[in-house]
Amino acid sequence: MDAVERAAALRAHAEDTATCTRCALASGRTQVVFGSGSPNADLMFVGEAPGFHEDQQGVPFVGQAGKLLDTLLGGIGLTRADVFVANVLKCRPPGNRDPLPEEIAACEPHLFRQIELIQPTLVATLGNFATKLLSGKPAGITRVHGHEQDVTLGTRTVVLYPLFHPAAALYTPSMLKVLEEDFSRIPELLDRTLDEPAVSEPALPVEEPEPESVQLGLF
Ligand code: URA
Repeated sequence: MDAVERAAALRAHAEDTATCTRCALASGRTQVVFGSGSPNADLMFVGEAPGFHEDQQGVPFVGQAGKLLDTLLGGIGLTRADVFVANVLKCRPPGNRDPLPEEIAACEPHLFRQIELIQPTLVATLGNFATKLLSGKPAGITRVHGHEQDVTLGTRTVVLYPLFHPAAALYTPSMLKVLEEDFSRIPELLDRTLDEPAVSEPALPVEEPEPESVQLGLF
């Protein structure tokens, strides 16, 4: 699938998802928060669920946690347009309570389809819910943050990189420091998943072979 087809397929998936009634959150939402960013992103972030502002605006991570995510991205030379950001749940749980297991189960096909279409090589999970869902393991974020792992999602293997959730780091300076440190490894991990050297050495000038002298057989 080329970039144009992928963008069209993702748009079609967003349109399908916009009318989802797979779980009870459909009745309380302002709108489905599908996700935003580049359909061709190599790096995808997966958070937990929309909050008040995301539900109002239809875009993930637009509140305080989103501002921190933008700052962290800026710190590694990226913007939201370079990545794709989505959540485990596409609809806001009332009062921002934790996602329920049945909501996660109902919503996960939407996320898996997003990943299948976008084909990221590196998936950074933000917090416990995304980490547990995509790793398929119960280990919590405090134990696994900063430790990349290969996971097979559908037919593809991606590198999963668990990070603390920016909302948790907002009010806990020690956690923010760890999140910043873990974030700083993203460029190296991304290079690795794209099969490029993590530290790019200055390129040596390529020696052009001498053009063979051509004897013009004019006479
Ligand atoms: N927290 C999340 O996990 N996702 C959002 O979109 C906003 C806040």
